[in-house]
Amino acid sequence: MAATRVLVLNSGSSSVKYQLIDMREARGRRRLAVGLVERIGEQTSRLRHTPRDGGTRETTGVIADHDAALKAVAAELARDGLGLDSPDLAAIGHRVVHGGMSFTEPTVIDDTVLAEIERLIPVAPLHNPANLIGIRTARALRPDLPQVAVFDTAFHTTMPESAARYALDTETADAHRIRRYGFHGTSHAYVSRATAQLLGRAPEDVNLIVLHLGNGASASAVRAGRCVDTSMGLTPLEGLVMGTRSGDLDPAVIFHLMRVGGMSADEIDTLLNKKSGLIGLCGDNDMREILRRRGEGDERAKLAFDIYIHRLKKYIGAYYAVLGHVDAVAFTAGVGENAAEVRAAAVAGLEELGLAVDAGRNAVRGDEPRLISPEGSRVAVAVVPTDEEWEIATQTYALVGKDG
Ligand code: ADP
Repeated sequence: MAATRVLVLNSGSSSVKYQLIDMREARGRRRLAVGLVERIGEQTSRLRHTPRDGGTRETTGVIADHDAALKAVAAELARDGLGLDSPDLAAIGHRVVHGGMSFTEPTVIDDTVLAEIERLIPVAPLHNPANLIGIRTARALRPDLPQVAVFDTAFHTTMPESAARYALDTETADAHRIRRYGFHGTSHAYVSRATAQLLGRAPEDVNLIVLHLGNGASASAVRAGRCVDTSMGLTPLEGLVMGTRSGDLDPAVIFHLMRVGGMSADEIDTLLNKKSGLIGLCGDNDMREILRRRGEGDERAKLAFDIYIHRLKKYIGAYYAVLGHVDAVAFTAGVGENAAEVRAAAVAGLEELGLAVDAGRNAVRGDEPRLISPEGSRVAVAVVPTDEEWEIATQTYALVGKDG
Protein backbone atom coordinates (compact mmCIF):
# COMPACT_ATOMS: atom_id res chain seq x y z
CA MET A 1 0.00 0.00 0.00
CA ALA A 2 1.25 3.48 -0.81
CA ALA A 3 2.52 5.60 2.05
CA THR A 4 -0.13 8.13 3.03
CA ARG A 5 1.22 10.01 6.02
CA VAL A 6 2.96 13.36 6.03
CA LEU A 7 4.83 14.82 8.99
CA VAL A 8 4.62 18.62 9.01
CA LEU A 9 7.42 20.41 10.86
CA ASN A 10 7.52 24.08 11.80
CA SER A 11 10.91 24.79 13.35
CA GLY A 12 11.45 28.07 15.18
CA SER A 13 14.58 29.28 16.91
CA SER A 14 13.70 27.60 20.20
CA SER A 15 10.67 25.52 19.29
CA VAL A 16 9.42 22.80 16.97
CA LYS A 17 5.73 22.36 16.18
CA TYR A 18 4.63 19.20 14.42
CA GLN A 19 1.60 17.37 13.12
CA LEU A 20 1.37 13.90 11.65
CA ILE A 21 -1.43 13.81 9.07
CA ASP A 22 -3.09 10.96 7.22
CA MET A 23 -3.78 12.27 3.71
CA ARG A 24 -6.60 9.79 3.12
CA GLU A 25 -8.86 11.56 5.58
CA ALA A 26 -11.03 14.44 4.48
CA ARG A 27 -8.91 17.51 5.24
CA GLY A 28 -6.84 15.29 7.58
CA ARG A 29 -9.35 16.42 10.17
CA ARG A 30 -8.33 14.02 12.88
CA ARG A 31 -4.57 14.39 13.11
CA LEU A 32 -2.67 11.22 13.97
CA ALA A 33 -0.61 13.28 16.40
CA VAL A 34 0.15 16.92 17.16
CA GLY A 35 2.80 18.38 19.39
CA LEU A 36 5.14 21.11 20.37
CA VAL A 37 8.66 21.27 21.77
CA GLU A 38 9.33 24.57 23.53
CA ARG A 39 12.31 26.31 25.11
CA ILE A 40 14.86 24.19 23.28
CA GLY A 41 18.33 24.77 24.74
CA GLU A 42 17.01 25.90 28.13
CA GLN A 43 16.84 24.05 31.44
CA THR A 44 13.05 23.98 31.26
CA SER A 45 12.42 22.54 27.80
CA ARG A 46 9.03 20.94 27.38
CA LEU A 47 7.51 18.50 24.91
CA ARG A 48 3.72 18.22 24.68
CA HIS A 49 2.52 15.38 22.50
CA THR A 50 -1.13 14.61 21.80
CA PRO A 51 -1.97 11.43 19.93
CA ARG A 52 -5.21 11.06 17.99
CA ASP A 53 -7.13 9.52 20.83
CA GLY A 54 -6.18 12.23 23.31
CA GLY A 55 -4.15 11.71 26.46
CA THR A 56 -1.57 14.46 26.09
CA ARG A 57 1.86 13.44 27.32
CA GLU A 58 4.19 16.10 28.67
CA THR A 59 7.92 15.73 29.20
CA THR A 60 10.04 18.41 30.83
CA GLY A 61 13.79 18.66 31.29
CA VAL A 62 16.71 19.72 29.14
CA ILE A 63 16.27 19.33 25.40
CA ALA A 64 19.63 20.70 24.33
CA ASP A 65 19.14 21.36 20.62
CA HIS A 66 16.94 20.71 17.59
CA ASP A 67 18.56 17.33 17.06
CA ALA A 68 17.56 16.23 20.56
CA ALA A 69 14.11 17.78 20.04
CA LEU A 70 13.39 15.84 16.86
CA LYS A 71 14.69 12.63 18.40
CA ALA A 72 12.36 13.16 21.33
CA VAL A 73 9.45 13.77 18.94
CA ALA A 74 10.36 10.62 17.00
CA ALA A 75 10.38 8.63 20.26
CA GLU A 76 6.91 9.94 21.19
CA LEU A 77 5.55 9.07 17.76
CA ALA A 78 7.12 5.60 18.03
CA ARG A 79 5.29 5.06 21.34
CA ASP A 80 2.05 5.43 19.38
CA GLY A 81 3.25 3.07 16.65
CA LEU A 82 3.81 6.04 14.32
CA GLY A 83 7.63 6.11 14.27
CA LEU A 84 9.59 7.97 11.63
CA ASP A 85 10.83 4.62 10.32
CA SER A 86 7.27 3.60 9.40
CA PRO A 87 6.76 2.65 5.73
CA ASP A 88 3.51 4.64 5.89
CA LEU A 89 5.41 7.92 6.15
CA ALA A 90 5.47 9.43 2.64
CA ALA A 91 7.35 12.65 3.31
CA ILE A 92 8.20 15.44 5.70
CA GLY A 93 6.87 18.91 4.86
CA HIS A 94 8.77 21.85 6.33
CA ARG A 95 7.44 25.35 6.80
CA VAL A 96 10.08 27.76 5.51
CA VAL A 97 9.42 31.43 6.13
CA HIS A 98 11.39 33.09 3.35
CA GLY A 99 11.76 31.76 -0.16
CA GLY A 100 12.62 35.14 -1.68
CA MET A 101 12.00 35.26 -5.41
CA SER A 102 13.78 31.93 -5.81
CA PHE A 103 10.91 29.72 -4.72
CA THR A 104 7.49 30.26 -6.19
CA GLU A 105 6.27 26.76 -5.35
CA PRO A 106 6.79 24.00 -2.80
CA THR A 107 10.10 22.34 -3.55
CA VAL A 108 11.65 18.94 -2.86
CA ILE A 109 14.71 19.62 -0.74
CA ASP A 110 18.19 18.75 -1.96
CA ASP A 111 21.59 20.30 -1.27
CA THR A 112 21.05 23.05 -3.84
CA VAL A 113 17.72 24.03 -2.29
CA LEU A 114 19.31 24.11 1.17
CA ALA A 115 22.08 26.36 -0.13
CA GLU A 116 19.51 28.74 -1.62
CA ILE A 117 17.48 28.91 1.61
CA GLU A 118 20.77 29.68 3.36
CA ARG A 119 21.55 32.42 0.83
CA LEU A 120 18.26 34.08 1.80
CA ILE A 121 19.24 34.41 5.48
CA PRO A 122 20.10 38.13 5.14
CA VAL A 123 16.45 38.88 4.27
CA ALA A 124 15.08 36.52 6.95
CA PRO A 125 17.66 36.52 9.75
CA LEU A 126 15.18 35.50 12.44
CA HIS A 127 13.42 32.67 10.66
CA ASN A 128 15.40 30.93 7.93
CA PRO A 129 18.27 29.77 10.19
CA ALA A 130 15.82 27.98 12.48
CA ASN A 131 13.95 26.46 9.53
CA LEU A 132 17.28 25.22 8.14
CA ILE A 133 18.27 23.56 11.40
CA GLY A 134 14.94 21.71 11.39
CA ILE A 135 15.43 20.53 7.82
CA ARG A 136 19.02 19.40 8.37
CA THR A 137 18.08 17.51 11.51
CA ALA A 138 15.14 15.77 9.84
CA ARG A 139 17.27 14.84 6.85
CA ALA A 140 19.90 13.34 9.14
CA LEU A 141 17.21 11.23 10.82
CA ARG A 142 15.62 10.01 7.58
CA PRO A 143 18.06 10.70 4.69
CA ASP A 144 16.09 8.45 2.34
CA LEU A 145 12.72 10.21 2.84
CA PRO A 146 11.54 12.98 0.51
CA GLN A 147 11.42 16.31 2.32
CA VAL A 148 9.63 19.32 0.94
CA ALA A 149 9.99 23.02 1.73
CA VAL A 150 6.74 25.00 1.68
CA PHE A 151 7.43 28.74 1.68
CA ASP A 152 5.41 31.46 3.44
CA THR A 153 6.32 33.84 0.64
CA ALA A 154 5.45 31.61 -2.35
CA PHE A 155 1.78 32.58 -2.68
CA HIS A 156 2.77 36.23 -2.98
CA THR A 157 5.29 35.81 -5.80
CA THR A 158 2.46 36.49 -8.27
CA MET A 159 2.27 40.13 -7.14
CA PRO A 160 2.88 42.52 -10.01
CA GLU A 161 5.99 44.70 -9.79
CA SER A 162 3.77 47.72 -9.15
CA ALA A 163 2.71 46.17 -5.83
CA ALA A 164 5.94 44.36 -4.96
CA ARG A 165 8.41 47.20 -5.45
CA TYR A 166 9.02 50.02 -3.01
CA ALA A 167 9.60 53.43 -4.56
CA LEU A 168 13.29 53.20 -3.67
CA ASP A 169 16.34 53.83 -5.80
CA THR A 170 16.29 50.77 -8.07
CA GLU A 171 19.98 49.95 -7.87
CA THR A 172 20.02 50.08 -4.09
CA ALA A 173 16.86 47.98 -3.88
CA ASP A 174 18.23 45.38 -6.28
CA ALA A 175 21.64 45.24 -4.63
CA HIS A 176 20.04 44.31 -1.31
CA ARG A 177 17.05 42.38 -2.70
CA ILE A 178 14.69 44.89 -1.11
CA ARG A 179 11.10 44.40 -2.23
CA ARG A 180 7.79 43.34 -0.76
CA TYR A 181 7.72 39.56 -0.34
CA GLY A 182 4.71 39.07 1.93
CA PHE A 183 4.23 36.28 4.49
CA HIS A 184 1.49 33.98 5.84
CA GLY A 185 1.19 32.85 2.21
CA THR A 186 0.30 29.28 3.12
CA SER A 187 -2.67 30.57 5.09
CA HIS A 188 -3.74 33.07 2.42
CA ALA A 189 -3.59 30.29 -0.20
CA TYR A 190 -5.63 27.87 1.90
CA VAL A 191 -8.23 30.45 2.93
CA SER A 192 -8.59 31.75 -0.65
CA ARG A 193 -9.46 28.28 -1.92
CA ALA A 194 -11.71 27.51 1.04
CA THR A 195 -13.57 30.81 0.59
CA ALA A 196 -14.17 30.12 -3.11
CA GLN A 197 -15.47 26.70 -2.12
CA LEU A 198 -17.79 28.27 0.46
CA LEU A 199 -19.17 30.53 -2.28
CA GLY A 200 -19.61 27.48 -4.53
CA ARG A 201 -17.28 29.01 -7.13
CA ALA A 202 -13.93 28.11 -8.65
CA PRO A 203 -10.93 30.04 -7.20
CA GLU A 204 -10.32 31.44 -10.73
CA ASP A 205 -13.79 33.00 -10.69
CA VAL A 206 -13.55 35.11 -7.56
CA ASN A 207 -11.80 38.19 -6.19
CA LEU A 208 -11.11 38.11 -2.48
CA ILE A 209 -9.74 40.15 0.38
CA VAL A 210 -8.24 37.77 2.94
CA LEU A 211 -7.60 39.08 6.46
CA HIS A 212 -5.28 36.81 8.47
CA LEU A 213 -5.56 38.24 11.97
CA GLY A 214 -3.48 36.25 14.44
CA ASN A 215 -0.78 37.54 16.72
CA GLY A 216 0.94 38.44 13.47
CA ALA A 217 -1.56 39.86 10.97
CA SER A 218 -1.68 40.41 7.24
CA ALA A 219 -4.19 41.24 4.51
CA SER A 220 -4.06 40.14 0.90
CA ALA A 221 -5.86 40.98 -2.31
CA VAL A 222 -6.46 37.87 -4.39
CA ARG A 223 -7.65 38.10 -7.98
CA ALA A 224 -8.79 34.88 -9.61
CA GLY A 225 -6.76 32.73 -7.21
CA ARG A 226 -3.57 34.78 -7.51
CA CYS A 227 -2.23 37.21 -4.97
CA VAL A 228 -1.98 40.75 -6.37
CA ASP A 229 -1.09 42.61 -3.17
CA THR A 230 -0.36 41.86 0.45
CA SER A 231 0.30 43.98 3.51
CA MET A 232 3.54 42.46 4.82
CA GLY A 233 6.68 43.51 2.99
CA LEU A 234 10.41 42.83 3.08
CA THR A 235 9.74 41.47 6.56
CA PRO A 236 6.57 40.67 8.52
CA LEU A 237 6.73 44.12 10.16
CA GLU A 238 4.81 46.07 7.50
CA GLY A 239 1.05 46.53 7.27
CA LEU A 240 -1.62 45.93 9.89
CA VAL A 241 -1.36 46.62 13.59
CA MET A 242 -0.33 43.32 15.19
CA GLY A 243 0.04 41.84 18.67
CA THR A 244 3.55 43.21 19.19
CA ARG A 245 4.46 44.77 15.80
CA SER A 246 3.72 48.33 14.75
CA GLY A 247 2.83 47.59 11.13
CA ASP A 248 3.00 50.65 8.83
CA LEU A 249 4.74 53.76 10.05
CA ASP A 250 6.66 56.66 8.57
CA PRO A 251 10.23 55.34 8.05
CA ALA A 252 11.47 58.67 9.38
CA VAL A 253 10.34 57.55 12.85
CA ILE A 254 13.41 55.29 12.77
CA PHE A 255 15.88 58.10 12.00
CA HIS A 256 14.19 60.20 14.64
CA LEU A 257 14.63 57.49 17.25
CA MET A 258 18.28 57.14 16.24
CA ARG A 259 19.12 60.83 16.14
CA VAL A 260 16.91 62.23 18.85
CA GLY A 261 16.16 59.14 20.93
CA GLY A 262 19.75 57.81 20.84
CA MET A 263 18.54 54.30 20.06
CA SER A 264 20.53 51.70 18.10
CA ALA A 265 19.22 49.82 15.07
CA ASP A 266 18.85 46.68 17.19
CA GLU A 267 16.94 48.53 19.89
CA ILE A 268 14.54 49.98 17.33
CA ASP A 269 14.15 46.56 15.72
CA THR A 270 13.09 45.17 19.10
CA LEU A 271 10.85 48.17 19.77
CA LEU A 272 8.96 47.83 16.47
CA ASN A 273 8.77 44.02 16.37
CA LYS A 274 8.30 43.10 20.02
CA LYS A 275 7.12 46.14 22.00
CA SER A 276 4.76 47.94 19.64
CA GLY A 277 1.38 47.10 18.11
CA LEU A 278 -1.33 46.24 20.64
CA ILE A 279 1.11 45.48 23.45
CA GLY A 280 2.86 48.80 22.96
CA LEU A 281 -0.41 50.69 22.86
CA CYS A 282 -2.11 49.15 25.87
CA GLY A 283 0.13 46.56 27.52
CA ASP A 284 -1.77 43.54 26.19
CA ASN A 285 -1.30 41.72 22.90
CA ASP A 286 -4.11 39.22 23.39
CA MET A 287 -7.31 40.49 21.75
CA ARG A 288 -9.45 38.65 24.32
CA GLU A 289 -7.91 40.73 27.09
CA ILE A 290 -8.25 43.95 25.08
CA LEU A 291 -11.93 43.28 24.40
CA ARG A 292 -12.52 42.54 28.07
CA ARG A 293 -10.76 45.73 29.20
CA ARG A 294 -12.52 47.78 26.54
CA GLY A 295 -15.84 46.39 27.75
CA GLU A 296 -14.98 47.70 31.23
CA GLY A 297 -14.34 51.18 29.84
CA ASP A 298 -10.51 51.04 29.85
CA GLU A 299 -9.39 54.00 27.69
CA ARG A 300 -6.03 52.57 26.59
CA ALA A 301 -7.61 49.30 25.50
CA LYS A 302 -10.31 51.25 23.64
CA LEU A 303 -7.74 53.35 21.80
CA ALA A 304 -5.63 50.28 20.92
CA PHE A 305 -8.75 48.60 19.51
CA ASP A 306 -9.69 51.73 17.54
CA ILE A 307 -6.21 52.03 16.00
CA TYR A 308 -6.25 48.32 15.11
CA ILE A 309 -9.65 48.66 13.41
CA HIS A 310 -8.79 51.92 11.66
CA ARG A 311 -5.76 50.28 9.99
CA LEU A 312 -7.73 47.18 9.08
CA LYS A 313 -10.45 49.26 7.48
CA LYS A 314 -7.89 51.21 5.46
CA TYR A 315 -6.53 47.96 4.03
CA ILE A 316 -10.00 46.70 3.18
CA GLY A 317 -10.63 49.94 1.29
CA ALA A 318 -7.24 49.87 -0.41
CA TYR A 319 -7.62 46.29 -1.59
CA TYR A 320 -11.15 46.96 -2.74
CA ALA A 321 -9.69 49.65 -4.97
CA VAL A 322 -6.82 47.40 -6.12
CA LEU A 323 -9.27 44.64 -7.10
CA GLY A 324 -12.01 46.86 -8.51
CA HIS A 325 -14.55 44.12 -7.87
CA VAL A 326 -14.70 42.06 -4.67
CA ASP A 327 -16.72 38.87 -4.20
CA ALA A 328 -15.84 38.18 -0.58
CA VAL A 329 -13.91 39.36 2.44
CA ALA A 330 -12.65 36.43 4.54
CA PHE A 331 -11.56 36.65 8.19
CA THR A 332 -9.16 34.04 9.52
CA ALA A 333 -6.64 33.13 12.30
CA GLY A 334 -7.05 33.58 16.07
CA VAL A 335 -8.60 37.06 16.06
CA GLY A 336 -10.37 36.77 12.69
CA GLU A 337 -11.98 33.44 13.58
CA ASN A 338 -12.98 34.28 17.13
CA ALA A 339 -13.45 38.00 17.66
CA ALA A 340 -16.92 38.90 16.37
CA GLU A 341 -16.47 42.48 17.64
CA VAL A 342 -13.39 42.96 15.47
CA ARG A 343 -15.19 41.63 12.37
CA ALA A 344 -18.22 43.84 12.97
CA ALA A 345 -16.12 46.95 13.59
CA ALA A 346 -13.87 46.32 10.56
CA VAL A 347 -16.78 46.44 8.09
CA ALA A 348 -19.00 48.92 9.96
CA GLY A 349 -19.88 51.85 7.74
CA LEU A 350 -18.85 50.11 4.52
CA GLU A 351 -22.41 49.43 3.34
CA GLU A 352 -21.83 51.67 0.32
CA LEU A 353 -19.18 49.15 -0.76
CA GLY A 354 -21.70 46.32 -0.41
CA LEU A 355 -20.13 45.15 2.84
CA ALA A 356 -22.12 44.33 5.97
CA VAL A 357 -22.23 41.84 8.82
CA ASP A 358 -25.39 40.18 10.13
CA ALA A 359 -25.22 40.39 13.93
CA GLY A 360 -26.85 36.97 14.46
CA ARG A 361 -24.63 35.17 11.98
CA ASN A 362 -21.54 36.95 13.26
CA ALA A 363 -22.22 35.75 16.80
CA VAL A 364 -22.25 32.06 15.82
CA ARG A 365 -19.05 30.26 16.78
CA GLY A 366 -17.65 27.20 15.07
CA ASP A 367 -14.83 25.48 13.22
CA GLU A 368 -16.46 25.45 9.80
CA PRO A 369 -16.24 28.14 7.10
CA ARG A 370 -19.38 30.28 7.28
CA LEU A 371 -20.97 33.41 5.88
CA ILE A 372 -21.64 36.27 8.28
CA SER A 373 -23.02 38.80 5.78
CA PRO A 374 -26.80 39.29 5.49
CA GLU A 375 -28.66 37.19 2.92
CA GLY A 376 -28.36 38.69 -0.55
CA SER A 377 -25.34 40.89 0.21
CA ARG A 378 -23.45 42.17 -2.83
CA VAL A 379 -20.14 41.16 -1.22
CA ALA A 380 -19.95 38.08 0.99
CA VAL A 381 -18.26 38.42 4.37
CA ALA A 382 -17.01 35.10 5.71
CA VAL A 383 -15.20 33.45 8.59
CA VAL A 384 -12.88 30.82 7.16
CA PRO A 385 -10.72 28.97 9.70
CA THR A 386 -7.19 28.57 8.40
CA ASP A 387 -5.23 25.32 8.46
CA GLU A 388 -1.62 25.94 7.53
CA GLU A 389 -0.49 22.43 8.50
CA TRP A 390 -3.05 20.83 6.23
CA GLU A 391 -2.00 23.13 3.40
CA ILE A 392 1.69 22.25 3.93
CA ALA A 393 0.84 18.54 4.04
CA THR A 394 -1.31 18.79 0.91
CA GLN A 395 1.36 20.64 -1.06
CA THR A 396 4.02 18.20 0.17
CA TYR A 397 1.96 15.14 -0.69
CA ALA A 398 1.07 16.49 -4.11
CA LEU A 399 4.79 16.61 -4.89
CA VAL A 400 5.82 13.23 -3.54
CA GLY A 401 2.67 11.20 -2.89
CA LYS A 402 2.40 9.93 -6.43
CA ASP A 403 5.59 7.91 -6.00
CA GLY A 404 4.70 6.64 -2.52
P1 ADP B 1 -0.31 33.12 15.73
O1 ADP B 1 -0.11 34.35 14.91
O2 ADP B 1 0.54 33.07 16.95
O3 ADP B 1 -0.39 31.84 14.95
P2 ADP B 1 -3.17 32.77 16.21
O4 ADP B 1 -3.68 32.79 14.83
O5 ADP B 1 -3.27 31.51 16.99
O6 ADP B 1 -1.73 33.37 16.34
O7 ADP B 1 -3.93 33.92 17.00
C1 ADP B 1 -3.61 34.18 18.34
C2 ADP B 1 -4.38 35.39 18.80
O8 ADP B 1 -5.78 35.18 18.55
C3 ADP B 1 -4.28 35.63 20.29
O9 ADP B 1 -3.16 36.43 20.59
C4 ADP B 1 -5.57 36.35 20.59
O10 ADP B 1 -5.34 37.74 20.45
C5 ADP B 1 -6.52 35.94 19.50
N1 ADP B 1 -7.65 35.14 19.98
C6 ADP B 1 -7.69 33.82 20.21
N2 ADP B 1 -8.91 33.45 20.67
C7 ADP B 1 -9.65 34.58 20.73
C8 ADP B 1 -10.99 34.90 21.11
N3 ADP B 1 -11.83 33.95 21.54
N4 ADP B 1 -11.38 36.18 21.02
C9 ADP B 1 -10.56 37.13 20.60
N5 ADP B 1 -9.31 36.91 20.22
C10 ADP B 1 -8.84 35.66 20.28
